[in-house]
Amino acid sequence: MIRLLLYIALIAAVTVTHAEDAANPFVLFHEPVLALTHAQVIDGTGAGIRDNQTIIIRGENIADIGDEKRIRIPADATVKDLKGALVTPGFVLLHEHFFYTLKGGNYGALFRSFPALYLAGGVTTLRTGGSMSPYADLNVRRDIAAGKTIGPDVDVTAPFINGSFPLAFGMQMQRLNTSADVERMIGYWADEGANSFKGYINLTRDQLEAMVRTAHARNTKVTAHLCSVTYREAAERGIDNLEHGFLAASDFVDNKMPDECPAGKAVEIGLDGLAINDPRMKELQQYLIQRKVAITSTLTIFETFTAGRPMAPQAALDLLIPELREAYVNRYTLIARDAAARWTSLLRKNMAWEKQFHDTGGLLVAGTDPTGYGGVIAGFSATRQVELLIEAGFSLPDAVRVASLNGAKYLGRETNVGSLVVGKRADLVAFSAGVKSDATQLPAIAWSMKGGTAYDRGRILEMWKGQVGLQ
Ligand SMILES: [Zn+2]
Repeated sequence: MIRLLLYIALIAAVTVTHAEDAANPFVLFHEPVLALTHAQVIDGTGAGIRDNQTIIIRGENIADIGDEKRIRIPADATVKDLKGALVTPGFVLLHEHFFYTLKGGNYGALFRSFPALYLAGGVTTLRTGGSMSPYADLNVRRDIAAGKTIGPDVDVTAPFINGSFPLAFGMQMQRLNTSADVERMIGYWADEGANSFKGYINLTRDQLEAMVRTAHARNTKVTAHLCSVTYREAAERGIDNLEHGFLAASDFVDNKMPDECPAGKAVEIGLDGLAINDPRMKELQQYLIQRKVAITSTLTIFETFTAGRPMAPQAALDLLIPELREAYVNRYTLIARDAAARWTSLLRKNMAWEKQFHDTGGLLVAGTDPTGYGGVIAGFSATRQVELLIEAGFSLPDAVRVASLNGAKYLGRETNVGSLVVGKRADLVAFSAGVKSDATQLPAIAWSMKGGTAYDRGRILEMWKGQVGLQ
């Protein structure tokens, strides 16, 4: 009898799951066997653009992929002709947040809208880059994994670890006085399920050392947005990853005091004092490469600080509540007037430094960082980051690889995701048109697919119109 009841319960559970799936208004299609034909493919490995490709998807995974002349389409497959449209892997981005800048140093939790919007924007795996609402981030990860809500697979970074300095915009951050505080915090969040830790601008060298030791003992990795500690000091202490390209490096500040984040614009001035091909930067990069430190490119956020750059697309601004849209446009307009500002030079230099780091063997990964004063918005930021890498001199296939396979490698997920190869999960982005190899912009996204299920970008954008800032 008990066995029979269990059996009935099991059937009921399966039925409910399927009914929910079919009723999910954001699912565009999911076929047991699917053949995508005539696709233009960039596979994420860095290999060149290939036309007329067939992709066979069985259930969740890529069963076959290659030239249409070589690939046999199974008799039971549903065929979708993509007619020359570009397909890339789903993006794997490493500096994302489920929050957005509100007012007065308040980061508003967006754990409802942003996961869905990231997925609509082609992101199928992400790492949050420091949390303001860690329980929400952990619960979102669980609910996505359980199929209760839609979004990318998530690696959760614990709350920011920022030393004791009381930041005006850091009221949501813990103030940590000692290395013991850091160890206690890491132990707690590792127990809760965080699998990444991020140091922030005011931590000390001792605290960073404690971070690396404690986090590594828990099989988790450490990244940081540095200032008080230099890139070299962090690499010496075994950090795994550094955020924001080379623009958070305080290594080049004159008379820098140990463990202190230099006041004012000293970091920017120090960096702007370097020529693009400055040997001191090359030397630092060589050391980072030797110590296997990955660098996260976040060109999208730096673009917003720079005059003469395009405004966020209208469809992205339409997602914001009116107050946030207005605040963004006002600040954008102020920055646009200041064409001589230092960021014009810094953005250009950082692009060149990231390219150089990549070309000399460094692991460059990508993130979009929806903070600053806004304008970097889930659903639109991933493709923009790829375009900015192209502007930095990366070939289109290399730019895609930085935003897919490289991220998967850093996260240790590369056997499952990050490129379009047989056996990996069918995580991909279908664009509305194809590209030429010298393209500097990507076509519009038509739909994105995670684990063989295609999601309706249009419906997701429509759902969250005017909501970003509220939920
Ligand atoms: Zn961030």
